[in-house]
Amino acid sequence: MSQPCIFCLIVTGQAPAVTLYEDDQTLAFLDINPINDGHTLVIPRQHHQDIHSMDEAIYRAVAETTRRLTEKIHAALQPDGINLFQANGKAAGQTVFHFHNHILPRYADDKMVVEVHGKLGVDHAELEQLAERIRQHL
Ligand code: 5GP
Ligand code: ZN
Repeated sequence: MSQPCIFCLIVTGQAPAVTLYEDDQTLAFLDINPINDGHTLVIPRQHHQDIHSMDEAIYRAVAETTRRLTEKIHAALQPDGINLFQANGKAAGQTVFHFHNHILPRYADDKMVVEVHGKLGVDHAELEQLAERIRQHL
């Protein structure tokens, strides 16, 4: 038998969580293994493995709860910065397969490394080819 989804268990109250906010579509709670104090997860109540199965309304609801909680965490904890992070798929680092946004309060002296700067000097024509592949799906 496959394991029940831990975040679905939190939604139904069958697993504990320290909840910060909830409404009819979303839930925000503190991460059990935080990177820094205030590390928060925002999820849809409805089970979605990742972004690929979410419709616009649910994504908007999660995005708005994320925005709102980010402002509250900023006001309450006054960190030096905040990262938003979200993983889709094992290769992207996803470990819990119920969609979630991470709100990550950051401090100038924390040791967390976020690296989104890749190879420099890429050929413009190469970018144009890639863009065309994506535009065909818009
Ligand atoms: P991912 O690696 O999928 O982006 O992040 C999963 C996050 O869920 C991790 O930061 C992990 O600490 C958190 N997490 C896993 N299980 C639980 C749990 O039972 N309760 C809470 N509050 N967080 C959890
Ligand atoms: Zn779930």
